[in-house]
Amino acid sequence: MQQDEAVYEPGRKLPLSGRADVIVCGAGPAGVAAALGAAGCGVSVILLESTAMPGGIMTSGMMPNVIDADNKGGFLQKMLRFLHESGAAGNYNSYVPEAVKHFMEDCLVKAGVRIRYNTLVCAVLKRGREVTAVIAESPAGREAFEGRIFIDCTGNGTVAALAGCRFECGDPQTGQPQAASLCALCGGVNAEDIADYWQQKGDKGKLHLLAQLEKAGCSPSYQMPTLFRLTNYEYLLMSNHEHGIFPDDADGISAALIQARREIFSQIAGLKKIAPEIANLCLLTTAAALGLREGRRIRAVYNLTTADLLAGRTQPDAVCRVTVAVDIHPSVANAKSGYGDGGVKARPYDVPLRSLIAADLDNMLLGGRCIGGDFYAHATYRVLGNAIPIGEGAGIMAGAALRKNVLPSVVKVEDFWAFGGNPHQKRG
Ligand SMILES: Cc1cc2nc3c(=O)[nH]c(=O)nc-3n(C[C@H](O)[C@H](O)[C@H](O)COP(=O)(O)OP(=O)(O)OC[C@H]3O[C@@H](n4cnc5c(N)ncnc54)[C@H](O)[C@@H]3O)c2cc1C
Repeated sequence: MQQDEAVYEPGRKLPLSGRADVIVCGAGPAGVAAALGAAGCGVSVILLESTAMPGGIMTSGMMPNVIDADNKGGFLQKMLRFLHESGAAGNYNSYVPEAVKHFMEDCLVKAGVRIRYNTLVCAVLKRGREVTAVIAESPAGREAFEGRIFIDCTGNGTVAALAGCRFECGDPQTGQPQAASLCALCGGVNAEDIADYWQQKGDKGKLHLLAQLEKAGCSPSYQMPTLFRLTNYEYLLMSNHEHGIFPDDADGISAALIQARREIFSQIAGLKKIAPEIANLCLLTTAAALGLREGRRIRAVYNLTTADLLAGRTQPDAVCRVTVAVDIHPSVANAKSGYGDGGVKARPYDVPLRSLIAADLDNMLLGGRCIGGDFYAHATYRVLGNAIPIGEGAGIMAGAALRKNVLPSVVKVEDFWAFGGNPHQKRG
């Protein structure tokens, strides 16, 4: 279609399908933690999710590999404890997606959160600097949800962007986002028989898988293909890179899904042929959603910078401490390496509550990977061990603001702590 071609949608009256103190948009790992954090403060919460499950990249994206969790407490540790105790832990920080869904749903139901699946937030109503309602499309049609505080946990910062918040996306040098990947669930072979292939400490497993794929004539678009062992016979495969995919590029996302599924299918077919130990490998399913490593970084009251990483800056209002290296997957095809730090050597640094408050609105908070930060900062705090505490922190900040009857931006750090904020760091 030509850019200026359009149709006019007449205004119409919409049913009000819900009203709550806090509306959390997106039930990914950050959204679930945000909803629980707010509910724990004794306020009412509605959680709106476009897919049919909680967990985001951990479930619909099939990549429940949790990095940077060791120095964290709260919901993240409760979930990891459950996953270990219920036998749902695989190797190298990976977990069975179905167990993640079960635990998240159980916690949400027990906390009294109203969960609404298949509900895509697609518009925002505002009065000045305040969001009054979000509009969503669901099996019930087009409908509105009113709230007092809204938390954008869509990963891509979609709701804040719809509300007119400023944002950035991609590498400032090239304008391009990190590569995306479609993950897949495989099975049919015994874990011991293919121990050389799966992820262990270091790169040995990845390099073996790469060599075997190349031997099979399937040179992968991701130079560090990885097989995560979930159980003795089930594995998650991450073996492709899709480039130039922005969060609002619906056609690009569709094309990338088709291309990735084709590549995964041929990789499995190729591997089956080259060695007897892997001849029975089968592709069980590809993920329901393309995994976008990068979406919008919404302008916040405080935007984390490369300087914060290099200095290892601490913050008085810390939500969590990031301890991982910068992890950038290349934005162009045929890159020599699968990922790298872009020359930025990060030291452990704090994410402040101020990075979770949208700069352009008074009652919009940010949870997960869409908080305020630059390209390199995002490439560290985006991992699950940080995205989850960030989501929980946003929820607790919303709850504390409502209980104290103040705007989120003036919630006192002591009140954030009193409501359970930052349970993993020493308090001042
Ligand atoms: C391919 C890939 C591999 C990764 N590997 C690792 C790893 O090994 N270890 C690690 O720790 N981290 C990894 N990450 C990073 C990490 O998983 C994500 O950054 C993290 O999931 C961010 O959580 P989130 O809740 O902010 O976003 P998401 O997980 O993206 O969740 C967002 C949720 O919002 C929903 N949503 C989106 N838009 C709307 C809307 N308009 N209305 C309603 N709902 C909406 C989505 O369906 C989804 O459920 C990886 C990421 C990707 C993409």
